[in-house]
Amino acid sequence: MVSLRELRPFLPDDLWQVMKKYAGEYNLNPVRYARKARAYWLRKRPVCFFCKGPFEEVAHKIPHTKGVDQFGFNSDFLVMLWNTLPTCKSDNALAEWKDDQITRFKRGLREKLELAKNLGPNRGHENSTQNKGPPPDRRA
Ligand SMILES: [Zn+2]
Repeated sequence: MVSLRELRPFLPDDLWQVMKKYAGEYNLNPVRYARKARAYWLRKRPVCFFCKGPFEEVAHKIPHTKGVDQFGFNSDFLVMLWNTLPTCKSDNALAEWKDDQITRFKRGLREKLELAKNLGPNRGHENSTQNKGPPPDRRA
């Protein structure tokens, strides 16, 4: 099982600033095909998530370009299965989250990452004491 931190859900801040500023102008968002997701849903559940009609398209909860440029998600994170649903053509748009839902999701992820950072096995005590008040009293 891959940890949340290993998934690197967010772009580094400096890269996100560049994407926000230039992605549209210089066409920096690559077209990514949801081949893996398509194969998965065909095998697992080849019906529309909403109307149970035939599966025609892979829909994305967080649209790729918006997710990268506007919200700072890592492109690789958005092409993963969790972000997809099987739909028919006419219900594709129903899968898309509203901006405030994306914002809440992002906030929750950041909190989980912070927690993982503080509890993670790669962090020594130098960090665990830094964030939790004064160091232990050594006079005793
Ligand atoms: Zn449908």
